[in-house]
Amino acid sequence: MAEIKGLRNIVPYVAGKQPTDKKMIKLNTNENAYPPSPRVIDSLRFFAAESLVRYPSLDQVDLKVILAQRLGVSSKQLIIGNGSDDILSQAFLAFFNSGLPIQFPDLTYGFYKVWAELYHVPYKEVALTENFEIDFTDYERGCGGIIIANPNAPTGRLMEQADLESLLQVHSDVVVIVDEAYINFGGQTAIPLLDKYDNLFITRTFSKDASLAGLRVGYGIGSPQLIAVMEAVKNSVNPYAVDSLAEHLARAAVEDWGYYEKICQQIAKTRDWFSQSLIDLGWSVISSKANFILAKPLQTAQSVFEILENQHIYVRYFPKVDRLRDYLRITIGTDEEMKQVLAVLSQLEGGCDE
Ligand code: PMP
Repeated sequence: MAEIKGLRNIVPYVAGKQPTDKKMIKLNTNENAYPPSPRVIDSLRFFAAESLVRYPSLDQVDLKVILAQRLGVSSKQLIIGNGSDDILSQAFLAFFNSGLPIQFPDLTYGFYKVWAELYHVPYKEVALTENFEIDFTDYERGCGGIIIANPNAPTGRLMEQADLESLLQVHSDVVVIVDEAYINFGGQTAIPLLDKYDNLFITRTFSKDASLAGLRVGYGIGSPQLIAVMEAVKNSVNPYAVDSLAEHLARAAVEDWGYYEKICQQIAKTRDWFSQSLIDLGWSVISSKANFILAKPLQTAQSVFEILENQHIYVRYFPKVDRLRDYLRITIGTDEEMKQVLAVLSQLEGGCDE
């Protein structure tokens, strides 16, 4: 067969498995443990399916207005996308064009590296400290931009607001993206810093706090100048990225935000008792402000991963990442689910011979 020229060779991001096991406890992709708000479910019934004959809106004005109100920003500071992966990937295209290396932590959302490679953006991975923290002083001046997740994934660690502000100050000549996918499980948002720092771009998603991972809606928050660049990129890639049904349901979610505040608080409570219970069993657990924890069992991570999987409990294990191979990342489910997980883990015998 003749060789086909011009094919791209890229190592893709590997997303968590979506098993179809009926009796599983699914704790491997940081989805929300609770259903979407009743208002979202209800508003499905009021969606005019005939409207699907038309393309969706280009700018989601209705969603932006109500979202802006809730966030305390102007709707000119918002851009909506097909999940925050869509927003983040376009932010790489929009903001990282200087030719200088961008910086992000060595342990963070695996997609950052994939986008950097995909779009030929040079990059440098900056090691987290021994405690898995981001030390902003490790980030060199004169770079092409910075992206961090806060709380970080897969550690769950939150960066202090003061440190984030220092990072923005030191790197005021490039865009600093703060990925706040998990901010509503106990973190402090960087939104108030937008008034002071035009180089700040925040990304958010409806996938985690709003229990709508299947809907694919995310958004970016930044100065009107940054949003205009994002809009130009979006209109060069996929102008109709957000479908009409997604916009309709996302609006209903924002209208019932009180529901989501409650479930996020509940998840944070469950996280805290579950973390403490693992510590009581002798595990090391990194202090998390997200809807997941990174924890090191007494036994090997692989053996615990397999035992859990045999019990239809799916968590995330990173055997290929040096610093993570002894850890498991466990999404926080309902109290009931986490009690079942704990019952299995309490039965495990012995530790590693170290
Ligand atoms: N950022 C981080 C840190 C994540 O873990 C995820 C979820 N995999 C995303 C962004 C993307 O989420 P979504 O595309 O569902 O909005």
